[in-house]
Amino acid sequence: MVFTNKSSTRKAEILSIGSEITSGAQLDTNSQWLSRKLAEIGVETGWHSTIPDDAEVNLNSFKLAASRAGLVVISGGLGPTQDDLTREILARLAGVDLDFDEASWAAIQEMFHRRNRVCPERNRVQAFVPKGAEALPNANGTAPGVFLIHLGTIFVALPGPPREMELMWANEVSPRLLNANLGKLGFGGGFLSRRTIRTFGAGESAVEEKLLDLTKRGAEPEVGITASNAIISLSITARGADLAEAQSQIALVEAIIRERLGDLVFGADEETLAEAVAGLLGELKRTVSFVESVTCGKTASLLGAVPGISNWLSGSLVLYQPGAKEQLLGYPKDLLMKEGCVGPETVRFLAKAVREKLGTDLGVAVVGFAGPGDGGPDLPAGLVFAAVDDGSSVSSEHTQNWHGSRTEIQHRTALMTLNLLRLKLLATKANLAPCQNVPLKEVR
Ligand code: AMP
Ligand code: MG
Repeated sequence: MVFTNKSSTRKAEILSIGSEITSGAQLDTNSQWLSRKLAEIGVETGWHSTIPDDAEVNLNSFKLAASRAGLVVISGGLGPTQDDLTREILARLAGVDLDFDEASWAAIQEMFHRRNRVCPERNRVQAFVPKGAEALPNANGTAPGVFLIHLGTIFVALPGPPREMELMWANEVSPRLLNANLGKLGFGGGFLSRRTIRTFGAGESAVEEKLLDLTKRGAEPEVGITASNAIISLSITARGADLAEAQSQIALVEAIIRERLGDLVFGADEETLAEAVAGLLGELKRTVSFVESVTCGKTASLLGAVPGISNWLSGSLVLYQPGAKEQLLGYPKDLLMKEGCVGPETVRFLAKAVREKLGTDLGVAVVGFAGPGDGGPDLPAGLVFAAVDDGSSVSSEHTQNWHGSRTEIQHRTALMTLNLLRLKLLATKANLAPCQNVPLKEVR
């Protein structure tokens, strides 16, 4: 194989093919996945294009991609039906015929055989590859992929179904690209590694203020900041000659971020706030119960998504009406008269009451106005109160800052409540730490 270098800095283009995607019926998740995988091997993605199952649009898009990108990764259009055009268009672009690949045909028939199905003759079309291209075996389906180099541009065509595409990437594509020594071919080269630090409890600008030297443009490793549902995430990207070098650069920056942000940081990468809380409950062996009105059980529900939580989550009550609160938790009438079901004393009372009622180590309560209506003068939608009672002290928090739809306010309030619980558990852990950490020889 001969690779010719077209320009000094080369990028990849990802082309998603399918009318189901351009029509909006199906979300293009492949492009996101592929961009991340390309980044891992040091290749930056310059363009995402999404096109329908139309031969002329396909050909023009392939040509445009070849004119600007050094690597074109295509997903979709490799099926056996008439709207699947990728093989044919690649052959037209390269000006070659399609060759029948016996090995691919044998693999397709074998795949049907394993599934106890008769292989339709129509699937023969999937065994054709453009002359001079390689067919890439599909371990999870019938459609082989295609690896083709045309005028110095690498074309990789992958099947659309994510589980087929992802396995083919790992088995066939990534090793070929690494073998091709992309750095020498003018792509960034080396390895990119990425880590995301997740925080809760401060706004985007307040978080960034503590990290301005790290987030400034051109800083290496690069640190980006994004906000979603009150969770502020910092993504660190580093490039190294190998993965270990990239990861050690990330570790240095991560340590600085964690030191400066302290307990605002609840986790990394895909870890959720609920998982962080569940981890602490398990580590400290603490049980918890909830009583929720404004969030209608959302806080407990988020926690309930974590496997194994039933060891620590005792129960959860959804109580809106004052009568229900009175009946199950003895919510006193005078407190109702004073605060009208939403207020700092109410939430503290409920946290304690649910803890005692269910006999757990911790009781958590949350009340408020999810909107769109408010609770009267000075009681706007978005005003919420949460409390965590552990028998010796109560932590509470309220905010009037939530804006957004009812669902958004409920979701953020549930996160805020989980975070309050996390901070309480962290404080418990810190108080336990000195005795736990005494070295054995000193105990003797
Ligand atoms: P195809 O290879 O074009 O026959 O695609 C088959 C199926 O894969 C489609 O019906 C989608 O369900 C899925 N698919 C194709 N392209 C994408 C994409 N870009 N993102 C997510 N799923 C996709
Ligand atoms: Mg398709």
